[in-house]
Amino acid sequence: MACRPSRVVVPGVVLLVALGIAPIGTAQPAPADPRPLSLDDLAALDALLDGEEAETAALLDTGAVVDVAILGIVLAFAVFSFLRKDDRLKVVSLALSVAYLGFVKASLVSVVDIFGAMRASLPAWQDGQAYYLLIGFTLVSTVLWGRLYCGRICAFGALTQLMDRVVPARLRIEPPAWLDRRLVHLKYGVLAVAVLYVLAGGDTLVYRYIEPFWMFTLSGSALMWTLLALLLLATVFVRNLYCRYLCAVGAGLGLLSNLTVFRIKRWSECATCKLCEKTCEWGAIDGPKILVSECVRCDDCERLYADEDRCPHWLIQKRAARAARG
Ligand code: SF4
Ligand code: SF4
Ligand code: SF4
Repeated sequence: MACRPSRVVVPGVVLLVALGIAPIGTAQPAPADPRPLSLDDLAALDALLDGEEAETAALLDTGAVVDVAILGIVLAFAVFSFLRKDDRLKVVSLALSVAYLGFVKASLVSVVDIFGAMRASLPAWQDGQAYYLLIGFTLVSTVLWGRLYCGRICAFGALTQLMDRVVPARLRIEPPAWLDRRLVHLKYGVLAVAVLYVLAGGDTLVYRYIEPFWMFTLSGSALMWTLLALLLLATVFVRNLYCRYLCAVGAGLGLLSNLTVFRIKRWSECATCKLCEKTCEWGAIDGPKILVSECVRCDDCERLYADEDRCPHWLIQKRAARAARG
């Protein structure tokens, strides 16, 4: 919240002058015979300060309402783009997340929120309505659909997904499946170590070294910026590297995803067809199986599932229909 010095200073000056004290730097003649404050003076001062507090509270309320409204629009658009399974809408949603939730608000779900929940140390409702909306959306959407937060909302994940669209494919290195299947477990280790460290009384500021979300505040030490540069450089070659292998929040949401209600549908042909598995940028398909803890509901395989010109399920159906017609 930006400071509004004039509103704070004016009643302070009135109070100081009324008490016969000159503010520093204000030349005042020595009072000849200071008049004691009457009850009316004190009542007037009280009313002035009460009015000031009410005005400040109203401004805070308005700011909070605007924050909640804009966040609601960003989240609603993300869900809309997800339900429409439209790639262009997804790009808009990702760009919105980077711009608004990233650079404007620096509002991302962090391992600090996990630490806060462990210690029952959460923001007061009146100060954190947007925070609760974001956390509530993340939890509910994960139970409904899976890691939709990772696939659309998280500004860092959105940034790396957008990076992936402009990086030439020839630069990319795909870790072999056997290695990928082992590396995905690393993030659970990061989460476990961070939680144990904090439970043992460690400093929660450790988050700055295990997640790069601070970058959206543009404030970090030389070491942090260096590590971030290395991470982003590595992400050019291995897409979604941090999300797939290192993110503690992704690990937590991956665990929660095991409760997902509305899962991705599969055809019987998926048992042998590898098209979706090759398309998935998150290594979240293993033969006919969707690995729910790795899937971020990016839509890529779901669009193929519905594509009557590419998915073998539909091609086989069309061929059978043509054969039946003779
Ligand atoms: S895995 Fe972590 S960084 Fe990646 S999108 Fe999810 S929360 Fe964000
Ligand atoms: S393209 Fe169709 S058949 Fe092949 S894996 Fe995807 S959904 Fe299954
Ligand atoms: S391609 Fe399918 S399985 Fe892979 S992350 Fe996207 S939605 Fe999930």
